[in-house]
Amino acid sequence: MLIGDVTRALAVFAHPDDAEWMFGGTILRLTAQGAEVNYVVCTDGSTGTVDRSKTTEEVAAIRATELRAAADVLGVSEIAYLGYRNDELEVTRALRRDIVRQIRRFRPEVILTMAPQRLPDAPVDIVHADHMAASEATLVAAYPESYMPFSHPELLDEEYAPFRVEEVWTSAFREADLYVDVTDQVETKMAAIMCHRSQNGEANDDAAWMLEHKVGPAMIEAGQKVGCRYAERYLRVPIKY
Ligand SMILES: [Zn+2]
Repeated sequence: MLIGDVTRALAVFAHPDDAEWMFGGTILRLTAQGAEVNYVVCTDGSTGTVDRSKTTEEVAAIRATELRAAADVLGVSEIAYLGYRNDELEVTRALRRDIVRQIRRFRPEVILTMAPQRLPDAPVDIVHADHMAASEATLVAAYPESYMPFSHPELLDEEYAPFRVEEVWTSAFREADLYVDVTDQVETKMAAIMCHRSQNGEANDDAAWMLEHKVGPAMIEAGQKVGCRYAERYLRVPIKY
């Protein structure tokens, strides 16, 4: 499926700041063409700080507010917060069911999610056990569970009917087969990332520094593969029946 044909997309990710880093430019292209984009964030982000003066509840609340602000910058409609504890995400039946529920509710043609496997050659901040769990649970939820009515039979009592997703795009590093040119979207993507102030450490409000040192290098490397300045890259998982 071509990005220009997508009318509904769902981003499923682990932590409140993952979507903007991994697929912020892609989401901007989707919302600019009139597609509906919604979010499912699996964890509460509550342990994502080195500041011991705050409680985990306070951190979770701050990060939920930051995420809504970032989503507004990108034109994202709704955010479903699944509320699993940060750093403890596992591919459980309950997590898969919770994602299936959101897939049946939002009915996306395409799901954007993270990489399901450890990427040994990727920078450490791209790799987190929660990322892999979120991705693996999403892939199983997309196929076969969201389509099969007797998967998670308790969901039959809810109003959302089984639904068939067409493709999952998993965030990739060196091995990728889908490159999205996000050169024109980089400035707004950075504005969205900068909404996550609690996560930006010493960079604080310096978007140019963040782009040069943190966010930019992987997008530049991806862009070089396809002849543009900045790209986001994925491995596509077509759902065939
Ligand atoms: Zn993360």
